[in-house]
Amino acid sequence: MTRTDSQQPPTTHARKWDQPLDAVVVGAGFAGLYMLHVLREAGFRAVVFESGEDIGGTWFWNRYPGARCDIESLDYSYKFSDALQREWQWTERYAAQEEILRYIHFVADRLDLRRDIFPNSRVTAARYDERANTWTVRTDAGDVVQARLVIMATGNLSTTNVPAIPGREKFHGEQYHTGHWPKTPVDLKGKRVAVIGTGSSGIQAIPEIARQAAQLTVFQRTANYCLPALNHPLTESERASYRDQFAKMRDTSRASIYGTPYSEDLLLHRSALADDPETRNRIYQERWELGGGALVRSYNDLLTDPAANDTAAEFIRSKIRAIVKDAKTAAALSPNDHHIGTKRICLGTNYYETFNEPHVSLVDLKSEPIEEIVKAGIRTSKATYEFDVLVFATGFDALTGSLLRVDFEGRNGQRLSEKWAAGPRTYLGLMTNGFPNLFMMTGPGSPAVIGNVIVSIEQHGDWITQCLAHMREQRLDCVEATLDAENAWVERVNTLASRTLFPRANSWYLGANIPGKPRVFIPYVSGVGQYRVECDEVVRANYKGFAFGKGTADRATAEAH
Ligand code: NAP
Repeated sequence: MTRTDSQQPPTTHARKWDQPLDAVVVGAGFAGLYMLHVLREAGFRAVVFESGEDIGGTWFWNRYPGARCDIESLDYSYKFSDALQREWQWTERYAAQEEILRYIHFVADRLDLRRDIFPNSRVTAARYDERANTWTVRTDAGDVVQARLVIMATGNLSTTNVPAIPGREKFHGEQYHTGHWPKTPVDLKGKRVAVIGTGSSGIQAIPEIARQAAQLTVFQRTANYCLPALNHPLTESERASYRDQFAKMRDTSRASIYGTPYSEDLLLHRSALADDPETRNRIYQERWELGGGALVRSYNDLLTDPAANDTAAEFIRSKIRAIVKDAKTAAALSPNDHHIGTKRICLGTNYYETFNEPHVSLVDLKSEPIEEIVKAGIRTSKATYEFDVLVFATGFDALTGSLLRVDFEGRNGQRLSEKWAAGPRTYLGLMTNGFPNLFMMTGPGSPAVIGNVIVSIEQHGDWITQCLAHMREQRLDCVEATLDAENAWVERVNTLASRTLFPRANSWYLGANIPGKPRVFIPYVSGVGQYRVECDEVVRANYKGFAFGKGTADRATAEAH
């Protein structure tokens, strides 16, 4: 893989810290920045370690051509500050990576966050000392720092997945992963480019790469449903209207399923099978013309009834047949092995249209699997294709990858990797038993990845800070999820998922994209609003399911609520 700017070896140095630290926050993306801000506001002392050379998280790394958010920009912004929301002017319905990164820098500057953020510092290990009730955190920059708490803000889609296709090192050209794209522009002009992967990243990158490359070949293993984003410049009146209703938009988002203010308005309170085909297609057509994810937020049984779901899937397949001129290519691009909405919906701009371009072709890996990468390109079971550039749009070791990349050692020397060998286990997606004072933001078992992650980030930042303030008031210094609460939560997350079609798809929601990863459905699927209600109830019930300790040597008397 081509080395990028931030892959330079970090300088090794030991930094001095104003001890004692309350918390080490890991990651300086949207989550880590918010966590640092709310901790400071509540009077806690924290530092943030970031592996990248700068802040931004996902939006620092995902610089591939066409990278943009699939949540509307006005919603994909911090909600905690009316002032920030008023000051920042989004230019497009769906912001591009560069604009979102600029927004993150704007927030970090406004809140003066940088002085406590340490880039080029990947946290490699963290060990809990039960007697001292502290975590010792190590980074690859040589830091060894002690803090009472560790808060993981590493994101759910940050550990890239490069498939172990034999021969990758033999390829003579350039290789890139969409989730680790170089900061310096990549010149694709006049080049023969291969893209492997047709998830959200591939679907966004393919039309943009096609505009630059002399020849583009897309290697598709699974066809995906792509809805039109219908991105457009925002007008001042659209921005003003949002600003004027900001408090309402924020509250509606927080109480919604997907963390956005519109979805509930779009929901029809009836089955797709209750309408005749003509009415149904008219409704799907209206949603198609609205752009974004509106189509799957229509009938109330699309994610629970296979026959209802198939009406929406067939509508998309009919669109693909109408758009893509070559019937064989259209058939290969038509998804038929999973229900629409059970993988994260992909939003595209001219995605299907791109396959009508004479210099763009599709290789269907279902009929000719990749056998190896050779010096000149890719050899499948049927042919060898030659390229100058290979682009892996092959996704991430999602949800658990970045948590397990840190060597966590909890109580009694237990390793997180051992504890989670059969799949992640958390209570509320916030904590895991055996690892006191270790919090996860948007962790496994929370709903963050199903909708607008910003809403979940703020909720978790607020929840954690509220819990820490409660501990300070009560003179408690240790908190841990009880095993019973954790077991019950894991079961609840599974039960909720099993009432839907989600677990039927081979998605990253259940680790199916990573060979050997335990197949366990990870996210909470009943929506950010319902999840918030459950988290608030836990607080009202005196932090039911959490055990607190008083004093460093007082673990034995931890009260189990
Ligand atoms: P992804 O959804 O996991 O897609 C990866 C693609 O690579 C799939 O088509 C997969 O095929 C293919 N692939 C993986 N290993 C392969 C192999 N060995 N051979 C051939 N093909 C292989 O990853 P992603 O596109 O990066 O998206 C991940 C998530 O990031 C999204 O679901 C979304 O939540 C987020 N994201 C959001 C945006 C946005 O906001 N617009 C943009 C990009 C990403 P299979 O399906 O057969 O496994």
